[in-house]
Amino acid sequence: MAATARIKDFLRREKPEGPCLIVDLEVIKDNFRAFEKAMPSTRIFYAVKANPAPEILSLLASMGSCFDTASVQEINMALAAGATPDRISFGNTIKKQRDIASAHALGISLFAVDSVEEAEKVAAAAPAAKVFCRILTDGAGAEWPLSRKFGCDPTMATEVLLHADKLGLKAYGISFHVGSQQTRLGAWDTALGEAKAIFDAMMKHGIALQMVNLGGGFPTKYLKAVPGTNAYANAIHDGLAKHFGNAIPETIIEPGRGMVGNAGVIKSEVVLISKKHANDNVRWVYLDIGKFGGLAETMDEAIRYPIVTEKDAGEKGLCVIAGPTCDSADVLYEKTPYPLPLSLSVGDEVLIEACGAYTTTYASVAFNGFPPLKAYVI
Ligand SMILES: *Cc1c(COP(=O)(O)O)cnc(C)c1O
Repeated sequence: MAATARIKDFLRREKPEGPCLIVDLEVIKDNFRAFEKAMPSTRIFYAVKANPAPEILSLLASMGSCFDTASVQEINMALAAGATPDRISFGNTIKKQRDIASAHALGISLFAVDSVEEAEKVAAAAPAAKVFCRILTDGAGAEWPLSRKFGCDPTMATEVLLHADKLGLKAYGISFHVGSQQTRLGAWDTALGEAKAIFDAMMKHGIALQMVNLGGGFPTKYLKAVPGTNAYANAIHDGLAKHFGNAIPETIIEPGRGMVGNAGVIKSEVVLISKKHANDNVRWVYLDIGKFGGLAETMDEAIRYPIVTEKDAGEKGLCVIAGPTCDSADVLYEKTPYPLPLSLSVGDEVLIEACGAYTTTYASVAFNGFPPLKAYVI
């Protein structure tokens, strides 16, 4: 989404020194309501890692959101924002046992596992807690797939949950993540079919699972159009009906990108425009923000941000876009060069849109002395 009127007004009035992120809370409010309206019987666990700004967490807590967290620090942030422990899940499948103990002491009682080894840790540090088992998905159709790092093969999930049950944990459900920025609506159907098979297998052992955690994956519009929230809700609803029939389980979603991505714009500035050879027709445009300043999702040119300048009405030419640091990896778009105005010059302001998710958290602390990405939440 382009800069909102509130963001434009803020930039005009405050003239903040860039690079910086400006996040419009009104957009997040609208996103939360859209999820709530499209999936009224599904609880929303905001994935804190997408953007943990206290103002965002407080807004969502006040609207009734729950929170998916990955560390004790994120749990504390969700608690500080006003969420009660029953509205917080510890969704990371890779946890230190002492962190599980800390979470348990804070009242957290819902944990993710994807192995018997992790179930052992949860049983030891958070006795009788509820656990859900994360299963692998292939991530096909996602622009930021989550690979094989998280989840176990669906054929192993029953063993993990039976083991959890034996250890005194409450085998509660199944989770999956179809891959971030997922634009293939059918991705949920496949995973729901696998989840149902595990529900059935557990039933044979007398254990009734109750919950399916549908994960994140809901997109933000970058350059290409994406399906709307209702299209996702319908695809999920159809998948649940198809596989679970009259026994629809409790469901939760964990939107990160889809909750905050379109709410933020980064103000940046052109530092240098040059060529590598007199005959080059592709210019190199160096911005004051790059991979280490918060735009890490340009890795492999996976996420292609809309970039807007005040000169966009004029003729454009292809550019390589790079960041300001002394690391050769700090190039945003080179394989697929990016069209920018021919009249663009040093010092011009550049707005990078749809940057509300996965930017501030990815910024390095002081690489080359550059401070972490500043953020204004309005
Ligand atoms: C990162 C993450 C999410 C959020 O994913 P998005 O694609 O940004 O919505 C949800 N759940 C878990 C477990 C995650 O790790």
